[in-house]
Amino acid sequence: TRWTPAEDRYERMPYRNLGDSGLKLPVISLGLWHNFGDDAPLQTQKEILRKAFDLGVTHFDLANNYGPPNGSAELNFGRILREDFAGLRQELVISSKAGWDMWPGPYGFGGSRKYLVDSLDQSLERMGLDRVDIFYHHRPDPETPLEETMRALDHIVRSGRASYVGISSYSADLTARAQQIMRGLGTPLVIHQPSYSMLNRWIEKPSSNSMGPAHGRNLVQTLTDQGMGSIVFTPLAQGMLTDKYLDGVPEDSRAAASKSLNPEWLTEQNIEHIRELNKIAESRGQSLAQMAIAWTLREQDGGQVTSALVGASKASQIVNSVEAVQSLEFSQAELEQINELAVD
Ligand code: NDP
Repeated sequence: TRWTPAEDRYERMPYRNLGDSGLKLPVISLGLWHNFGDDAPLQTQKEILRKAFDLGVTHFDLANNYGPPNGSAELNFGRILREDFAGLRQELVISSKAGWDMWPGPYGFGGSRKYLVDSLDQSLERMGLDRVDIFYHHRPDPETPLEETMRALDHIVRSGRASYVGISSYSADLTARAQQIMRGLGTPLVIHQPSYSMLNRWIEKPSSNSMGPAHGRNLVQTLTDQGMGSIVFTPLAQGMLTDKYLDGVPEDSRAAASKSLNPEWLTEQNIEHIRELNKIAESRGQSLAQMAIAWTLREQDGGQVTSALVGASKASQIVNSVEAVQSLEFSQAELEQINELAVD
């Protein structure tokens, strides 16, 4: 039987404007880096996506290379879109990216116009779409002039392949330079996708180059200066900021699979901090995952993250994570306690 989404799907999720743009993102978005390749059951993938949408998660984040193998997450997502989300395209914000290694040879990675345009055309074909809502340059490429990459993003919007463009993992200075170029071209970047969590706080650290275009301001402040929003990846530190590793490494966890989460990162000191953070979460009546998500979304000096981009290996995890929206506020005392423990 055909799936129909929950009627009350827009009742609980808050949506925030992305920087100075008119595009709103849910404060929690779902990423398809893991758990959507050919190594994961299609039925589980469907359950996660359906549940997410039922809870107001309107934004799904992909990239050319998500899998394994490369491209399979977009293929599987495209199939689920056709089978389950037919007629709902306009209620979804779909993102893709190019930047990391995708195909063999000199044109399958980096930031050239050749690579970005060819890669996005392939992504659209895999997903069965005419355009994505957001297209990103996935990482800075020191071998391509910034001007060329930005002109390629401008061309991508003008050619109708994407409605908005953004960048991922660019420093504050490089972000300010990129936005200056894009403003000149008339297609300002609307979003930055950096890593951020209680165990990885680089976006709060001032740019080391006080003479650079970001003038010693941190990425959060720079994004406000530049009219851009942000979506932070790995807010759960790939699962470390949940209660699952407190008593060892469970068999069905990402650390056990040892792909991108190295079990060696679970040091005694990290576990000790995670245990203490878990106690703070309990006192707030939240799971640690929920508190970790809410914390990334708090107001900061000079800015605020727009959306937390989580992953999920089963539907129950997205249910748990989305409940973070019930308690997004922190007292000053809580923030100070967390500060002591939230160290990279
Ligand atoms: P998270 O930090 O959210 O980790 C997700 C993992 O944590 C899940 O797969 C699951 O792991 C565990 N988990 C999730 N929710 C819960 C919960 N409520 N309770 C207990 N455990 C939970 O992020 P990801 O590392 O998955 O990254 C999220 C997205 O960010 C990616 O899909 C991608 O879209 C984006 N990203 C972007 C990058 C970039 O360069 N721009 C780089 C990396 C990610 P388990 O398997 O152990 O169950």
